[in-house]
Order: sequence, then C-alpha cells, then structure tokens
Amino acid sequence: MTQGVAGELERLRASARERIESATDQKALEGLRVSLLGKKGELTTILRQLGGLPAADRAAAGAEANQLKDEIFQWITDRMGGLEAKRHTALGDTEWVDLTFVPNPVRRGHLHPLTLILREVKAIFSRLGYEVALGPQVEDEFHNFEALNIPQDHPARDTMDSFYVEADDLLLRTHTSPVQIRFMQSHKPPIRIIAPGAVYRRDATDPSHGSQFYQVEGLVVDHDIRLSDLKGTIEYFARSLFGPERRIRIVGDHFPFTEPSIGAAVSCGICGGIGCRSCKGGWLEILGAGMVHPQVLRNGGIDPERYSGFAFGAGLDRLAMLKYNVTDLRLFLENDVRFLRQF
Ligand SMILES: [Zn+2]
Repeated sequence: MTQGVAGELERLRASARERIESATDQKALEGLRVSLLGKKGELTTILRQLGGLPAADRAAAGAEANQLKDEIFQWITDRMGGLEAKRHTALGDTEWVDLTFVPNPVRRGHLHPLTLILREVKAIFSRLGYEVALGPQVEDEFHNFEALNIPQDHPARDTMDSFYVEADDLLLRTHTSPVQIRFMQSHKPPIRIIAPGAVYRRDATDPSHGSQFYQVEGLVVDHDIRLSDLKGTIEYFARSLFGPERRIRIVGDHFPFTEPSIGAAVSCGICGGIGCRSCKGGWLEILGAGMVHPQVLRNGGIDPERYSGFAFGAGLDRLAMLKYNVTDLRLFLENDVRFLRQF
C-alpha cells in the first residue's frame, strides 16, 4: 500500500469522525453520509485511485477503505442514536403541552342591530300580507319630489335638499317614497308593500341625524281603504315591535303626499309614559303616515275615484334606537364591537 492512499484514508478517518461527532441534528448527519459515502463522496473519490496501484497494494488499500466505510457508517448510526436519545430526554422542555391552558373563546358574530330591526319589521308586515319592494338609491327629481307633490318651489325641498349626482336631475334619494311611485306605476291594485332602504340628506351629523340613514315605508292601495285601516295597522305594528303594553297615540300632522296626514307615537318604555329625558312628555314618535293624496295616486297611474290607499314611513335607525334604548344614532355606524356585542 502506498503512503499516499493510506495517508488520505487516515486523514479522512480523523476528519470524518470529528465532523460526525459534532453534528447536532439528523439533517446534518444525513448530509455527512452523502458527502462521505455517497457516489461523489470523499471515500469514493479515494477508492477511485485504487485502480492505479500495484495489485498487492490494491488489496490492502481496498480492505482498509472498506473498513473505514463500515466505521463511518457505524459512527453515523451511533451519533444518530445519541441525538435521538438526547431529544427524548429534552422532550419535556422542548415539546411540553400545558394541559391547563384555556384558549380565548371563539366568538360567533351576529347580525347588526339595524339588520335585526329590519328583519323584525319585515316579519311583522309579512304576517299582514305585505311584500318587500326595493328601488334605486340614485333617483330622478320626478320620483323623489314631483310625483310626491313636492314641486320645485315647495318648502319641503329646502329641508330635504340632497346630494345631487352629476346630471342635474339625479340625486341620492331623500326618502324611500319614490319606491311607492315606481311600484304603483308597475303594478295594479291591490298593493301592499313595505319599502326599506338607505336614504340620504344633507343634514349635519348629530346624535339623532346623519347624512345617511334607513327608512322603511309602507303603501296600501285597494278599494275602500280608510284611515281606520291605517290606524289598525299602526297599532298592530307598534305593539308587535315594542310590546303589547305600549299605548299608541295618533295626532294630526302634515306631509305633501298624504291627506289627511297623521303622526304616531308610542308610550315611552323607560318612564312608562310619565315623561323623562328620553321622551317628549311620555311619548316617542315612531312614524308619519296618512291617506295617499289623490294626485300621488294619479302620478302612480292609479285612478283615485276607484281606489284609495294609505302610506306610512318610519326611520329604521329611530325604531332601533327606541327599541334598544340607544341614545346616539352614530353608534349604529361606528362598528365598535363593544357596542355591537350587546345585541
Ligand atoms: Zn319617557
């Protein structure tokens, strides 16, 4: 055996042993196995030189190399076992599980209070045979104003002045009443609808006003519809929503699109009707209503000689405020979970 190959094997033996002993994990050991014993590994490279040796030397060097191969394999196996044993011993520190740990509970979301109140209103009116009608939020002036008896110079336009959209006669609807016109234009009586949705006004924001809020309006058109039908409907609605013990008060009011017009209030749930900070002398206004003005029926394509009808409109936000005793409208839109979680 020549000094060259024997020397190389000896050096490899020392360095391989050292590297295997200092490997700290399974991956490093696997890497060493490949770089030492693999097809292009260090030992294989030395073995390739054997072919150039005289026959006598070749056998001795081959035996030596094979022995080193077995040794390296054994060292790797031993080191692997050692590391595994160490991992087992350390398991209690590295992979412990705290069986007493209580994770944060997963909170289920729920519907927004305005959605809850809308669903309740829909349910109440569906029991009375109403269907839900929807319309565009960008309206033309005819459907939003003129068809509802609010001409250009009508004082109601001042308070209801709105957000206009590019073209001069398009605006964000100021109430859901245009849905009534659209529905009358496309349907024949009997009509029994509620029209819920977002409306927009150029109001400064305060606890009871916002530039966007929600309304729900109702319209009934049929033969021989009377004010007493409206009154009964309001009573049924208010008692269903606020509870059977609430008293209902109906007073005269004025709207351009109804004649006569009325306003409805329920007795205050906080003071029981005695009068408190939340109410006006024991009463809370919930909606405006009236018999549909004959001209409005005509604008909707309905003959007021044959048919009559009533309409009502309420602020959905306001209904929610009254039902849930919320004092600031803005809370509904701020999406603060501390507020929303209560419902
Ligand atoms: Zn009160």
